[in-house]
Amino acid sequence: MDHIVVLGAGVGGTMTANMLSRRLDRTDAKITIVDKSTEHAYQPSFYLLPFGYMDPDDQFRDVRDILRDGVEFVHDEVTGVDPEEKTVSLSEDDLDYDYLVASLGHRLAPETTPGMVEGWKETDSVHPFYHYEGAMSMREALPEFDGGRFVVSVPDTSIKCGGAPLKMTMLAEDYFRRRGIRDDVEVVMTKPSDAIFGVSPYREKLEEIWADRGIQAELNFTVESVDYENGVIRSEEGDSLEYDFYVPVSPQYGQKALTERSPLTDGGEYVTVDKHTLQHETYPDVFALGDAGDTPNAKTAAAARKQAHVVLDNLTAHMEDKPQTAAYDGYAACPLLTKKGKAMVAEFDYENSISAPVESRANWIMDINVLPSVYWNLWLRGYDPLP
Ligand SMILES: Cc1cc2nc3c(=O)[nH]c(=O)nc-3n(C[C@H](O)[C@H](O)[C@H](O)COP(=O)(O)OP(=O)(O)OC[C@H]3O[C@@H](n4cnc5c(N)ncnc54)[C@H](O)[C@@H]3O)c2cc1C
Repeated sequence: MDHIVVLGAGVGGTMTANMLSRRLDRTDAKITIVDKSTEHAYQPSFYLLPFGYMDPDDQFRDVRDILRDGVEFVHDEVTGVDPEEKTVSLSEDDLDYDYLVASLGHRLAPETTPGMVEGWKETDSVHPFYHYEGAMSMREALPEFDGGRFVVSVPDTSIKCGGAPLKMTMLAEDYFRRRGIRDDVEVVMTKPSDAIFGVSPYREKLEEIWADRGIQAELNFTVESVDYENGVIRSEEGDSLEYDFYVPVSPQYGQKALTERSPLTDGGEYVTVDKHTLQHETYPDVFALGDAGDTPNAKTAAAARKQAHVVLDNLTAHMEDKPQTAAYDGYAACPLLTKKGKAMVAEFDYENSISAPVESRANWIMDINVLPSVYWNLWLRGYDPLP
């Protein structure tokens, strides 16, 4: 019997493992999924929790409750992969595989920016919201903030959900307006590139919204260090920006188990796969999806969801020595929440933008009231009626 090992029980890994278990007979393949955590978090809630727009108690599920009976869960840390020997090293043991799915996501690394962690731990004004704990510390500190400069920063690494810092900025601006302190707050987002969002026509629509609402973009600003004692962010370009409340996006990289202790990333940060088939370029029994893969799409749960279908079809075809016919087209989607009650969905693939750049209440309701339930009860469990 073949052994399929899935690394990571996040969005990509959980969906893939559950869909594999639905498609394959238990006598054909054993499916094992490994994660160092027993809890799966709904990460898109992390920019909503600070404002009280979602309930912290409802953002986690025990991984074992969302996996199908046919999937074995191993609670351990992956420390390396040897694709020649077809083994995965865990902190306790080794695991042999016939086929491997790598979906270990992004590694958040605030410690690579001097002063960021110290500012977070030692002051009340630095809150890296990509971490659940950072979102929660911000939730506590925000009501006390009554004016000054509010800064969101984007690092110069690849990040998951490139829209999240923009949503954080716009929701904060709206929150200050609702609290009646907007005139006392300067709202700024820094970014290393020269545009607030990479994809047209959403970029132009966002620029219009930011100009209307007086939100400032500090472009070509690459955060180098945080002088948390004086409340100043310094940039590689030689500029500095004072802050009173600072919400950085932590720098992000590939997982060290793959980058330092496997050849799967070929010296880079991400697992090198064909951008359409998601099969490894050197080791055909390895597939990768989600944030861990080097496909040039916007890293989002929406992308991982689409990729899970491609991995399912191509991996099972490969197991039967059949041609791989499924192709990932670069699809990603990002609901851009522009203010409480309004959102615009940016949806695009490798080639084209798909949705219209329109703000609507329906988009907000879909994102806040409908999608979380679809995420937990359908997608993660491997039911996806509209793949
Ligand atoms: C603030 C924020 C907002 C977001 N908003 C959106 C949004 O609105 N829409 C959207 O589509 N996406 C959004 N995303 C992005 C989305 O959450 C990710 O793109 C998605 O989770 C990627 O799935 P994944 O399976 O690749 O990685 P993950 O879901 O991150 O899962 C990786 C798993 O690997 C495990 N792991 C890591 N290293 C090891 C190891 N060495 N050993 C064992 N286990 C390990 C982790 O514990 C984790 O369970 C957002 C993310 C954040 C942080």
